Amino acid sequence: MGSEKQEQNYDMLILGAGPAGLTAAIYASRAGLSALVCEEKLSGGEISATEQLDNFPGFPEGINGIEFGMRLEQQAQRFGTRIVSASIETVELDGEWKRVVTTAGEFLGRTVVIATGTQPRNLGVPGEEKLRGRGISYCATCDGPFFRDKMVAVIGGGDSAVEEALYLTRFAGGVLLVHRRDMLRAVPYLQEKLLNHPNVKVLWDTVVKGFAGEAKLEKILVQNVRNDSMAEVPVDGAFLYVGRIPNSSFFNGVEKDANGYIITNDEMETKIPGVYAVGDIRRKFLRQVVTAAADGAIAAMVAVRYLA
Ligand code: NAP
Repeated sequence: MGSEKQEQNYDMLILGAGPAGLTAAIYASRAGLSALVCEEKLSGGEISATEQLDNFPGFPEGINGIEFGMRLEQQAQRFGTRIVSASIETVELDGEWKRVVTTAGEFLGRTVVIATGTQPRNLGVPGEEKLRGRGISYCATCDGPFFRDKMVAVIGGGDSAVEEALYLTRFAGGVLLVHRRDMLRAVPYLQEKLLNHPNVKVLWDTVVKGFAGEAKLEKILVQNVRNDSMAEVPVDGAFLYVGRIPNSSFFNGVEKDANGYIITNDEMETKIPGVYAVGDIRRKFLRQVVTAAADGAIAAMVAVRYLA
């Protein structure tokens, strides 16, 4: 590579350094492609907000999420992947060379792997905006330790809500899970752990209508959906796990479902030649680290074939 301009050209631009993006990087670099990964946060993506990754094969004791992300990064770098810390500004996916403009400069790639994942969904109720970071959190691993011996609510009934509610029992004096139905969505083994935990109470059939507090969160306003009765519940913290939304708004021209997840075939190909989508951003049945990694490996090898 000679001039500055040439250094900005890659066989593969990978957008996102979660398990999907970094596995694509490992496979692509190891196969001899020049690969650049662009990430605005920590390597590891969503998994870096997880205390313990328990179900990735080969780690019988589990592994800390941040450590897992760092290991992925090191492995990709060992094969020659370049990782830049930058936010995406614009993306042009048509044509032989795809263009990605970021806060760290402009990059051209013969292929693009979209691995930008998802972000937490908001409830969109009064007080949420004002009290975010003042008692309202979307990351128990990050903020749980601030609530030692305090009362916290967890909103949601999926795997994330239940797993993080269990994690919060390590610190909090009490954990109240607030779920809109009378049945959890989480897998049975997590449900069982939660429902048998002495420090967890569940408010069934209940929706959060608002958050209240002056300088910090003081209470949540809830409504029972069966009888419409309203109540105020005093809490020090509220952790929101009501699902996620895909970070797909940058990507025009690729097919998306009604929720914004990118549609690919089994080989991770979008409708645009040389453009792949992998991991949680893709419409798929199972959003797990192991399926994200598999997506990344497939996309990289399909790209090798495309470039040949
Ligand atoms: P999720 O499975 O979509 O669950 C979201 C939960 O929030 C559901 O219980 C849903 O209620 C509730 N909800 C949605 N909108 C709401 C609203 N406006 N008001 C109140 N409640 C609302 O999301 P997730 O738990 O973040 O999980 C995302 C994906 O990651 C899933 O595929 C999950 O299996 C996976 N995951 C796996 C693990 C693991 O394997 N250890 C851990 C975490 C996440 P309903 O149930 O009524 O729809």
